Amino acid sequence: MALKFYNTLSRAKEDFSPIGKKEVLFYSCGPTVYNYPHIGNYRAYIFADTLKRVLSYGGYKVKHIMNLTDIDDKTIRDSQKEGKTLKEFTEFYTEEFYKDIKSLNILPPKKFTKATDYIDEMVDVIKKLLKNGLAYKSEDGSVYFNIKKFSNYGKLSHLVIENQKENASGRIKKDEYGKDDVHDFALWKAWDEKDGDVFWETSLGKGRPGWHIECSAMSMATLGEQIDIHTGGVDNIFPHHENEIAQSEGATGKPFVKYWMHNEWVLVDQKKMAKSDKNFYTLRDLTDKDINPIAYRFWLLMANYRTRVNFVWEALGGAEVALKRLYHLYTELGEKIGKVNTEYQNKFRTFVEDDLDTPRALVVLWDLLKDEKISNADKKATVLDFDQVLGLGFDKLKEEKVPEKVKLLILEREKARVDKDFKKSDELRKEINSLGYEIKDTNEGQKVSRI
Ligand code: AMP
Ligand code: ZN
Repeated sequence: MALKFYNTLSRAKEDFSPIGKKEVLFYSCGPTVYNYPHIGNYRAYIFADTLKRVLSYGGYKVKHIMNLTDIDDKTIRDSQKEGKTLKEFTEFYTEEFYKDIKSLNILPPKKFTKATDYIDEMVDVIKKLLKNGLAYKSEDGSVYFNIKKFSNYGKLSHLVIENQKENASGRIKKDEYGKDDVHDFALWKAWDEKDGDVFWETSLGKGRPGWHIECSAMSMATLGEQIDIHTGGVDNIFPHHENEIAQSEGATGKPFVKYWMHNEWVLVDQKKMAKSDKNFYTLRDLTDKDINPIAYRFWLLMANYRTRVNFVWEALGGAEVALKRLYHLYTELGEKIGKVNTEYQNKFRTFVEDDLDTPRALVVLWDLLKDEKISNADKKATVLDFDQVLGLGFDKLKEEKVPEKVKLLILEREKARVDKDFKKSDELRKEINSLGYEIKDTNEGQKVSRI
């Protein structure tokens, strides 16, 4: 079966067929490194990671690039607040991001591109846009994209641009704005005193890039003028990705991206999880509660990436128990690794290749583990095969010979934790300790070891 992906451009599921034969060219919008990303942000990176894994599982070679926005309005604002240089400030959060994605078992892209390493490339794209008559300089020396000159403006977000254009007088300098704020947007921002010591002296003058030009320039510099897949969260559709199309296609005259793919939101109390609304959690909030980050990955995989999910601690707790059950079933299978069961593999493949239907793929995993007709060794091989896509870390689990009594106490303790009966959970931990074992919740799941 051919891979099928939902393309935001056509608003339809399409058969996947890459532009070139050699490899799939894939760009993901990465984090703005001005704070710890919240777990909603991580949905975007877990989605991109799953997509990459599905492509590799389908036999494609993938060249994946993810950017790090280390220069924009927010990084300048918050580095100044903390009295740090932009570099010192953004490098700290970049390192934290690297640690987080490791704990979520997200495979690193071929390259992380830092925006500040691509200023020359951004200037080149802006100059092409000026030359092509699609951009203009304003009085203060900033450069803006003229949306009225680009006939395809609005094709991704499906804006009724004719109406919008009527209202779209003037221009907008800030990086982030909404659909009701359609304007000419800044490609290059002339220095003003609020920028402090953050500026570059270039042939466009003293200033800094707008956020949107960063991804157009980095994508073109690393993957070429035309790419297969570009991902981000749905809130990136407008204005960020719409503006990327305008910039890239305006500069090259060629279609920029074949498949635009976007993940839906993580909500809290049915409202988008967002820094600005202060209704967010970070991975640190999970680990503070002794929750393995992979349980969050697992919880997300239980829903399709295009459906909204409402985050509640109880649901995450339930996912963690289910994940531990899976780990337990797996470690019970013994040491031997047999052959992948092709019947189960075909089912699993059909689901993941159908626009990443991970909820149904997980049902196949449970069915496999329950199937008494399959040998333990073959089950083990098949789970490991599926985990190339799921990334739940089965390969890192080690068999532990733990007495039945201790195992039962551990399961009881899990239940107590789900029921939020922390007193009971503490008592059970002590009982487990008294039998000579201790439990630790680690990135690879619950680890039981001898004291
Ligand atoms: P930002 O650092 O704000 O550019 O966001 C990083 C990524 O997270 C982008 O792809 C966003 O679309 C995505 N994102 C932001 N908030 C959420 C959310 N609540 N749920 C899912 N994805 C989100
Ligand atoms: Zn981007």
